[in-house]
Amino acid sequence: MANKDYYQILGVDKNANADDIKSAYRRLAKKYHPDLNKTDEAAEKFKEINEAYEVLGDDTKRANYDQYGSADGPQFQGGAGGFGDFFGGGSGGFGDFFSDIFSAFGGGGASRQSRVMEKGDDINLALNLTFEEAVNGVEKIINISKLESCNSCSGTGAKNGIEYTVCPDCKGTGRVRYQQNTMFGTTIREAGCSKCNATGKIIKEKCEACNGKGYKKVTKQVKVKVPAGIDDGQVIRMKGEGNAPIRQGVNGDLNIKVSVSNHAILVRKGIDICLDLYVPFTTCLLGGKIDIPTVHGKFTLEIKEGTMSGTIMRLKNKGVKALNREYYGDMLVTIKAEPPKSIDKKTKELLKQIEELQSENSYPKYKNFLNKSKD
Ligand SMILES: [Zn+2]
Ligand SMILES: [Zn+2]
Repeated sequence: MANKDYYQILGVDKNANADDIKSAYRRLAKKYHPDLNKTDEAAEKFKEINEAYEVLGDDTKRANYDQYGSADGPQFQGGAGGFGDFFGGGSGGFGDFFSDIFSAFGGGGASRQSRVMEKGDDINLALNLTFEEAVNGVEKIINISKLESCNSCSGTGAKNGIEYTVCPDCKGTGRVRYQQNTMFGTTIREAGCSKCNATGKIIKEKCEACNGKGYKKVTKQVKVKVPAGIDDGQVIRMKGEGNAPIRQGVNGDLNIKVSVSNHAILVRKGIDICLDLYVPFTTCLLGGKIDIPTVHGKFTLEIKEGTMSGTIMRLKNKGVKALNREYYGDMLVTIKAEPPKSIDKKTKELLKQIEELQSENSYPKYKNFLNKSKD
């Protein structure tokens, strides 16, 4: 899934605020407007600009895009799995729904029959990850118990996969049509064929390996590629790794919901990493260097002389990789001045001297407060 870089399209920084984005959009939209340009390139560009602004101009969509690379939220392996899902209704559900629609249009026939495939059940699992594994991505081997199509009979349930005949009632489709009279008139409906139990075939001799079922219960090792940047509660969907269907059709999916443990001091907020960094109050006054952990390894943070407690330092691209995108969040370090736990006599004397050395003018913000609070 090649994601477009909407920031690049609008020519703005990824930290741009809503006003910057809006003015960049207006400028570009004017430049490439179809009324002023007759080329296909301009028309394409105009479309792109609008697409980008539709996402970046909307706070929710933008947040989703930043974290997941899509305005719609988490996307795995190319997103929702196409029509297969809709037609593979299993028992009831969409399968019947579509049968009715196709009947109503009087169409369907061969092309539809090939689409009505039974889908095996999904397998849903939980997977625990450490903070680092979620940030960096990891490969995990997990054991799952699942139904697998029988190799000996190619899932037919018949000996050698050939000892069966096509059901004469449904001509191998597994479905039969019947007329139904309703208050809206006569409609043609479909249902599973009862003669062959909707399998479309009559087994002459059973496959011994699966006792005619066409599937077996097996324990399998599955390699799960956990993408870097995945977050707590997100689901990795592995299409076709679930259970084989009871009759022939397509496998279900394997859905793995991840649960991510907390880091000792780093806190993740989407693709950004936050750290409350407590430093001796003297470091805020005098400045200094402190080694901090980041998700990309150790980093030496330089605190400037006279740093106000509560200052947030943004370390660009030192956050988490966005899912499915070559793009990193930031690290936000909030500096917090910590006073000494106890102040001895000598320290107190020195602090008093410092207090006396400074006038009101040394603290412009404090002075401003005093002036304004007089009114
Ligand atoms: Zn049949
Ligand atoms: Zn078999």
